[in-house]
Amino acid sequence: MRIADRIGHITGGGSDGWEIYYRTREMIAAGERVLTLTIGEHDIRTDRRILDAMHASAAAGNTGYAFGPGNRNLREAIASRTEARTGHPTSWKNVVVTPGGQSALFATHMALLDAGDVGLHCDPFYATYPGTIRATGAHARRVPTTSDRDFLPHEGDILARATGAKTLLINTPNNPTGVVYDRATLEGIARAAVTADLWLISDEVYDTQVWQGDHISPRTLPGMADRTIVIGSMSKSHAMTGSRLGWVVAPEPLAEAIATLATNTTYGVPAFIQDAALFALKLGDGFEAEIAAPFRRRREIALRVLQGSNAIRTIPSSGAMYLMLDIRATGLSGNAFANKLLDEERIAVMPGESFGDASAGHLRVALTIADDQFEEALTRLAAFAERQLP
Ligand code: PMP
Repeated sequence: MRIADRIGHITGGGSDGWEIYYRTREMIAAGERVLTLTIGEHDIRTDRRILDAMHASAAAGNTGYAFGPGNRNLREAIASRTEARTGHPTSWKNVVVTPGGQSALFATHMALLDAGDVGLHCDPFYATYPGTIRATGAHARRVPTTSDRDFLPHEGDILARATGAKTLLINTPNNPTGVVYDRATLEGIARAAVTADLWLISDEVYDTQVWQGDHISPRTLPGMADRTIVIGSMSKSHAMTGSRLGWVVAPEPLAEAIATLATNTTYGVPAFIQDAALFALKLGDGFEAEIAAPFRRRREIALRVLQGSNAIRTIPSSGAMYLMLDIRATGLSGNAFANKLLDEERIAVMPGESFGDASAGHLRVALTIADDQFEEALTRLAAFAERQLP
């Protein structure tokens, strides 16, 4: 059977880095108790009121083909939310609704990269980033960051890799590191984007999960709105991962191009999901804070438990539903540590190596199980780490 080279090009032939996750699922299926801190998904389900709105919309007959770029009322709501948060004028014409942030990332790269082009992304990275860039036929090139500089990307490192590149994908608050980019970092990124004439694709799907300081969108920096595309989603902010509702905010001609792509790929998002998303957005900031609250609490628990550890350094994280732990003092790789922890303690975390070379010797801990279980997992993880010290 002949399958297009495009698909092999997406994975680059390597492993997908999710072996721990698959092993954990098998253990759980075999009836074992595993404290699972691997995946970035809430431990609550979508709010009943949002489901009721979805049901009411479907029952009222909104089950036919939806309009490709999204319903005008939802696009207006996303535009005004974006404008309220960023202070930058945003029209519904800048917004295209997509089936999740992932689809928004793909559509944006498709609209900006041709086969053979180069798209940049930071290392460490969210698992799908290189594949999303490669799916367009372009090459994915990494901009390295370092643990000792809190995994923040620097202007010089971007410029050193920018030759021939057309796009730069960044993510703040960050998965996998939990780091929120400060203004100085974003200004450096913006200068690099201008100097190297790059489109800046800013993945802001965790914008409601900030524990310290503020989320700053680079779209608000002087002169950046014309070259910045913001990726948003209801998945993390409203616990609606399964609804597949995301968006792109882009300059109008680019939004039109992305809408053309949507018409010829997804044909839009079901209207009853769009109506549920509109209802959910109208629940306001208070609801979003409620959804984020458990992660805020668990981060505090982790900082308390890990304080004073000789084996673990916590990367100063201030957002998203993750913590990155530096376990290099143990002499183990992230992979070796995570596999041993799973075997001996039945605790599952993601090895840093799953997210790139820059986070080797680290672990990503998802803040996604009940507080008491989370505290148990972190306490046992910390004791396990101490025992590994040479
Ligand atoms: N970007 C980042 C950084 C993510 O972590 C995720 C999901 N884990 C996504 C985008 C995609 O989310 P969704 O498609 O559910 O909106």
